[in-house]
Amino acid sequence: MEGEVAQNTKVERIGLAAVWKESDDVFRPTPAPLTLVEALSRTRPKADSTVVLVSEAVMAEILFQLKSKADVEMGGVLVGSAFVDSDLRLHAVVVRRGLLGDNSEGTPVSLKFTSDAWQSINSKLPGLPEEERNIVGWYHSHPGLGVFLSARDRLTQRSFFANPWQIALVVDPNRDLASSSAFGFFYGSEGLPAQTIVYRTEMPEE
Ligand SMILES: [Zn+2]
Repeated sequence: MEGEVAQNTKVERIGLAAVWKESDDVFRPTPAPLTLVEALSRTRPKADSTVVLVSEAVMAEILFQLKSKADVEMGGVLVGSAFVDSDLRLHAVVVRRGLLGDNSEGTPVSLKFTSDAWQSINSKLPGLPEEERNIVGWYHSHPGLGVFLSARDRLTQRSFFANPWQIALVVDPNRDLASSSAFGFFYGSEGLPAQTIVYRTEMPEE
C-alpha cells in the first residue's frame, strides 16, 4: 500500500504503462437494492452480472465525440456511479459522461492511453460534479471494424478495469448510430457483454 492518496483511483506511470494503484479510499460500488433495475429490464438480469444504465443524452454526446474523427480510434474514460446488490449479486453502473483523452494516440487500428492522456483525464475530474468523479470504465471507437473487444482491448480491460463494475464501451462510428449494433458495453476482467438500458431523459419544465 502506498502512503499517498490522490483521487479515487490513482494512475501512476511505470515505464510506458499506466498502472492502477488502489488506495484505501478507492471507489467501491455503493450497496443498494437493485429492484428498480430489475423492473427496468426487459429480461430479468442474471445473477453475477452487470447492467449498464445510460441516458440517451449521454450516449448521444459520446457518439458525437467519437464521430468527430471517424477515421481514427479515439477514446477516454467513462465516469459515473456504480451500485451493487449483494442479494441479487448484481452490479449496476450509471454512466454520466465520457471524458475524451485529448492526447491519446489514435491510429486507424489502435488506441493507447498515453501518460499525457491520463494526465488530461485526471485533470478534468476535480472540476466535475461529485457524482461524475468516479471512473467506472473506458470507451473507444472502432471505425468501420465493428463492435467487439480485441485481444489488446481485453488486455487493457483485465489490467485496468477488472472489477465487475468496471466497463468498456466500444463504438463503431461508421455504423448507423441510431442502431444498437453501433455500440456495445462489456464488463469485468473477462470483458463479458453487459446488459444495457438506454433510458430517455425528460426535459426539465420551464
Ligand atoms: Zn479496440
